[in-house]
Amino acid sequence: MAAKAPTVGIVSLGCPKALVDSERIITRLRSEGYQLSGSYEGADLVVVNTCGFLDSAKAESLDAIGEAIAENGKVIVTGCLGKEESLIRETHPKVLEVTGPHQYEAVMGAVHTHLPRLHDPKVDLVPESGLRLTPRHYAYLKISEGCNNRCSFCIIPSIRGDLVSRPANAVLKEAEQLVKSGVKELLVISQDTSAYGVDMKYAESKWKDRSVRAKFFDLCKELGEFGVWTRLHYVYPYPHVDEVIGLMAEGKILPYLDIPFQHASPRLLKAMKRPANQDKMLERIASWRKVCPDLTIRSSFIVGFPGETEDDFETLLDFIEEAEIDRAGCFKYENVDGAPSRDLDDHVDQDDIDERYDRFMEVQTELAHARGQAMIGRTIDVISDGWDEDTEAYACRSKADAPEIDGVVNVTSETEIAEGAIFRVRVTAAEGHELKGAL
Ligand code: SF4
Repeated sequence: MAAKAPTVGIVSLGCPKALVDSERIITRLRSEGYQLSGSYEGADLVVVNTCGFLDSAKAESLDAIGEAIAENGKVIVTGCLGKEESLIRETHPKVLEVTGPHQYEAVMGAVHTHLPRLHDPKVDLVPESGLRLTPRHYAYLKISEGCNNRCSFCIIPSIRGDLVSRPANAVLKEAEQLVKSGVKELLVISQDTSAYGVDMKYAESKWKDRSVRAKFFDLCKELGEFGVWTRLHYVYPYPHVDEVIGLMAEGKILPYLDIPFQHASPRLLKAMKRPANQDKMLERIASWRKVCPDLTIRSSFIVGFPGETEDDFETLLDFIEEAEIDRAGCFKYENVDGAPSRDLDDHVDQDDIDERYDRFMEVQTELAHARGQAMIGRTIDVISDGWDEDTEAYACRSKADAPEIDGVVNVTSETEIAEGAIFRVRVTAAEGHELKGAL
């Protein structure tokens, strides 16, 4: 009788970038003959991919490690929190090994040590596109690691290092394989997408019959050729972002920009040491909308950053209203260990932070409501994420909705709709971030 293949469980926490790391680990495990288990009991060992961005994320990661130890016993930790090995070992002395973010070799080494693969594994065929944790019809495409910026509230550069871009042809090859395997929507991610290629001086690489520069616009243009939805995340408003709006207007890439503005007060942006000049942002957004009227802007903001006055906060509220930010996420400032902003003067009282957060959310909810109402009666393209038992409708997304973070269009249909199908619906109702649509 064949020996049972060693089986690994994966717990993946954190952002889409961490999810891509988990997918790479899974692809390696499967290509080496390991089986995967969706439960603690079914696994011989568990890999926990952690997030260490905010103190709340650290606490969640430490809890997940604790749960995996209690339920399974054999645990390897990787990911951003892996940088803080002593904290992990102090909290959970039973952890077998700790490795840091995107250290695939080290994770595999740890797995080999604690759960050797079979001597002669019947290696399962792994698709060229690798194995993914996202549904079959959308996939995250990571174009670089690390970040050259030094925002004062952020410890990511100290965890993930400086920007290291992937050559353009490597990114395009992965995109091509994903599309061949059935992906209908590519979600471009990194820490700083519009800085792509700066570290490699925009080096050219051979792709098909041409040379492609590792440059934001050039990459977007090539991705636009695959004929699937391409959505851009974590784009800072450097001047060359303007060029990409033209590709959106032409329908080459989705008219969607995820720009983490974080604030609108020039004084605070300076204290935050934010990249890209955000002066005259209202004018720039207006000019983008002139070129591409359907442009959706998603952003995230921090309230209660040290030194934030009531005036600064009002500036922020005015900005989201005047710029008509379509999707606005809000985070309460956290005094993250190791972040330079800890040492700034004039920290804002927690009560004021909580109150500003509530006011932000009120304005944001009103804007979302107005936006939803304006959509009623319009005919829009949507992609299906599959049947949803709770709403008894097909959960779909419009071009304005990224998976997990934005809204949903609930579509009723007499005929079955396949996951990943793209089709047109008429919007019949709106509530919050949810729309209702009919075929
Ligand atoms: S751009 Fe700023 S917030 Fe984003 S990863 Fe880099 S340092 Fe952190």
